[in-house]
Amino acid sequence: MCCCGTKNTAKTAGSVTDVVCGMQIDPESAAGKTEYQGTTYYFCGTCCKGSFDSNPAQYAQALVSNGN
Ligand SMILES: [Zn+2]
Repeated sequence: MCCCGTKNTAKTAGSVTDVVCGMQIDPESAAGKTEYQGTTYYFCGTCCKGSFDSNPAQYAQALVSNGN
């Protein structure tokens, strides 16, 4: 992994999850974002965005199954 080895588990209001690395990030300070199937995903870094863009279905599915 090229970025963000640390998971920040402290959720703050308005934060979103980087579905690639699981990190909680502020959408306003996100390094990148991608819209996929009507949902906007935010990323902590361009590398996470690149990972999502290369295989969006995998990560989008992971988000949907959240709360199993
Ligand atoms: Zn990330």
